[in-house]
Amino acid sequence: GLDAYDDGNIFAKILRKEIPVEVIYEDDYAFAFPDIAPQVPVHVLIIPKGRYVSFADFSAQASETEIAGFTRAVGKVARQLGVEESGYRVISNSGLNAGQEVPHYHVHLCAGAPLGRLLQ
Ligand code: 5GP
Repeated sequence: GLDAYDDGNIFAKILRKEIPVEVIYEDDYAFAFPDIAPQVPVHVLIIPKGRYVSFADFSAQASETEIAGFTRAVGKVARQLGVEESGYRVISNSGLNAGQEVPHYHVHLCAGAPLGRLLQ
């Protein structure tokens, strides 16, 4: 089905530490690491530890504890990176029309420069 999770996806391998990665932040609910192709000066990916394909999947299937833990972790990463005051953007591409490439739910934390308006 649409939400069948593939344990062979690249972020699953990163979570299992099968691929070397710089760990920016880790707790029970979240794992943060640099995007391999940064689009902005600070471009970090944050993923939940559970097996969720997309935002659509995570928002519908994750427990309230996982959702709360993940959301708090995103805020902690921003604080840790020192971008809380200057500001940042959290983006998640969910599914085909959004161009989602990796089928493990993730958010992009983008910061470090004025980001412009995403939607006009
Ligand atoms: P999305 O699925 O949100 O459209 O984009 C996936 C993001 O993951 C892209 O920004 C891409 O640069 C990043 N990415 C893809 N493969 C890897 C990888 O192996 N390691 C890291 N650190 N980032 C990756």
